[in-house]
Amino acid sequence: MPARTNMFLVLLAGVVLVLLGLAGVREQLFSPEVDEPAVVTGLFPAEQAVPEPVAAPEAEEPSVATGLAPTAPGPVPAPGAEEPGTARPAIPTRTVVLTAGRGDTLSGVLHRAGLDRGESQAVILAVGPVYDLQRMKIGQNFTIEMLDESRVGQGAHDDGGAARVPGLVSMSFRPTVEQEIMVLRTGDGGYSTEVIDLHLEVRDAFVESEITTSLYLAAKAKGVPMNVLAQVIRMFSYAVDFQRGIHPGDSFSVLFETHHDGSGAMVRGGAVNWAALTLSGTTLEFVRHVPADGRADYFDRAGRSNRTALMRTPIDGARLSSSYGKRKHPILGYTRMHRGLDFAAPKGVPIMAAGDGTIESIGRNGDYGKYIRIRHDSEYKTAYAHMSRYAKGLNRNSRVRQGQVIGYVGSTGLSTGPHLHYEVIRNGRQINPRTMKLPGKKLKGADLKTLARQWELNDERVAAVRADRTYVKGPARHG
Ligand SMILES: [Zn+2]
Repeated sequence: MPARTNMFLVLLAGVVLVLLGLAGVREQLFSPEVDEPAVVTGLFPAEQAVPEPVAAPEAEEPSVATGLAPTAPGPVPAPGAEEPGTARPAIPTRTVVLTAGRGDTLSGVLHRAGLDRGESQAVILAVGPVYDLQRMKIGQNFTIEMLDESRVGQGAHDDGGAARVPGLVSMSFRPTVEQEIMVLRTGDGGYSTEVIDLHLEVRDAFVESEITTSLYLAAKAKGVPMNVLAQVIRMFSYAVDFQRGIHPGDSFSVLFETHHDGSGAMVRGGAVNWAALTLSGTTLEFVRHVPADGRADYFDRAGRSNRTALMRTPIDGARLSSSYGKRKHPILGYTRMHRGLDFAAPKGVPIMAAGDGTIESIGRNGDYGKYIRIRHDSEYKTAYAHMSRYAKGLNRNSRVRQGQVIGYVGSTGLSTGPHLHYEVIRNGRQINPRTMKLPGKKLKGADLKTLARQWELNDERVAAVRADRTYVKGPARHG
């Protein structure tokens, strides 16, 4: 095997170790009982991982992310070796962390890192099978390890001078909190890709609180993660009018999961297992349950789904303008004169289709301004008025699904301020959405039996966490 290839393997082994270490997975991989460097041998045959002594660089570049910079340790570190950074670098490399901007592509990022077109294409091909690059988000960080050519001696890549020294040694990024994708240069000059599971620990969290202004503010004050709050609001949007239905003195409880990294820090909220909302003395509660069809859903104690054919609040309840304190415009209820419900929200907040259906009307409609009407079945229609704009691609006869964004809050037509005017039309006449009775899907037979067991377990869990005062203080204090 040529010396240069060996050198690369050593370098790569080092990069893997350092980056795994940074990813916080060292503990899992290097358990103290294991004496063999399992990771290294798993990736590269042990005899190839013999270090080739190469002079260490004199000094580190100040611009380099020093935590990552000393890449290849001289000897392969023994299991449990404390600090990868103390090992002697074999080949000078530099690490840059580049962030994807608006409209950026991975190709653009690699170009900024200094890769040529051919190499950048090879990296993109390697990433393709494990990650959909179309889904790359603004702000995605890429940690790119490059050979520092300015420091590599002439003899180190003496191949006739025709071929360019391959620049990229490794690249890693975390598309989600539980995944790290790592691209590594292989000995044959290609790239291999690995998906590393960052093993998030799942814990229970419980929050219970009175609502003084809005559910949103009460939950936020208790440290409920935003994605959990969004699930709770969505869960109750079928039954609750979030503009008029919540009053001071109401309360909520939520039992949910939180995901924690190796250091115990919560990285995000997980699934909501149970939530209860007590409004004017009446409690609505749903438990998460997976029926035989395999689709997790929320059900009440009688086995009815939280989801009904039409939503009472077809807009994100967390974005509604508070109905307490100053009112810039009346938030009207349903009356003979006002045959709909108004939801005050800032301009641009998405409006959802209240149920599955077909768009029957879309366009300017007098005092209604920008208006959409959806036909759900032979009996029910819903209408949405004063929009600032429609969602892209919608036309008359477009099919829409419940919860699909159809437009955005505005103040077009006869309107005193940005709000959604929402109407439910039954057999050609507007009815009061607050009092409409629409049944949710009801579980039967064996599903109903397993749901009853689910409720029993849930009640035990809730009683236990209620007794444990550390939970009631919220997820931030627990863990
Ligand atoms: Zn109105």
